[in-house]
Amino acid sequence: MKVELVPSAVGGGTAAASASVSQYLTSIRINDSICLDAGSIGFHADLEVQRAIRHLFLSHSHIDHIASLPMLLDNVFGEHPEGVCVHAGAETEAALREDIFNDRTWPDFIRISEQGPVRLLDLQRLEAGRPVEIDGVQVTPIPVEHIVPTFGFLVDDGRSAVLIATDTAPCAALREAANAVPHLKAVVLEASFPEKLLWLADASMHLTPRLFAEEIAQFAGDPTFFAVHLKATHRDEITRELDDAGVGDVVVMEAGHSYEL
Ligand SMILES: [Zn+2]
Ligand SMILES: [Zn+2]
Repeated sequence: MKVELVPSAVGGGTAAASASVSQYLTSIRINDSICLDAGSIGFHADLEVQRAIRHLFLSHSHIDHIASLPMLLDNVFGEHPEGVCVHAGAETEAALREDIFNDRTWPDFIRISEQGPVRLLDLQRLEAGRPVEIDGVQVTPIPVEHIVPTFGFLVDDGRSAVLIATDTAPCAALREAANAVPHLKAVVLEASFPEKLLWLADASMHLTPRLFAEEIAQFAGDPTFFAVHLKATHRDEITRELDDAGVGDVVVMEAGHSYEL
C-alpha cells in the first residue's frame, strides 16, 4: 500500500528543498482514497488529490489533525452526492459538532448535510478495535494515551500492515495490536519533543526520542520505524536525538514522499 505524509507547508521550492521543509499539521494518505486526519489534506495544492479522498479517519479533535477539515469538505463539495465519509470516535464527533460545525467557526455542515439534497459529509462512528473495511483495506482504531480520547490506526491490506499513531504517550495497546499481526511492515510513531522538553511531552502526553526508542524496542518482528509529528522548531534536535538513541534505523518520514509498504 502507498503511505504519504501530506505536506503542510507551502513555498518549499524544489523537491530536494521540500524534504527538509517543516511539518506543522498531520494528514497521512493511504493509497488515494483514504486519509488519516485532516490537518493538511484540505490545503493540498492539487484539488484532484483532495477530490480522491472518500474516507477520512480522525484520530482526535486537536487542531493540527482537523485544521483543514472544513476546507476539504468545502473544496470537494458536490463531487459525490453522499459526501466524504468522516470516521470519528464519539468524543471527536462531539468536538466537531460543538467547536467547528457550530455556524460560528464554520457553517454546520452536519445539519446542512442532513437537510439538503447533497451531502457534504457522512459521519460514521469509530469504535475501538472494530475494523472498517474500504476497498480491501482494513482500518482498525486502537485507543492510545493522549490528553483527549485518541485513536491510533492499524491499516492492513492483507499483504502488509502499517501501525500509525501520530499523538500518544507510551502505549502498551499499540504494541499488543501490532505484535498480533505477522505481516506488519511499518510502524509510524510520533516523536514530538526533544529531551529537554520532557516535561512538556509528559504534560501533553507525547513522546521524546528516548521514549520513542523505549516503545519501538518492544515491537516484535522487523518493521520499519518512521518518526512523525516532530515539532517544527525542534526538528533537527529531535532527528539528532533519534540517531543517538541507538535503536537502529529510524526514518524521519518525509512529507510528500509516497512510501510503498
Ligand atoms: Zn493531539
Ligand atoms: Zn498532534
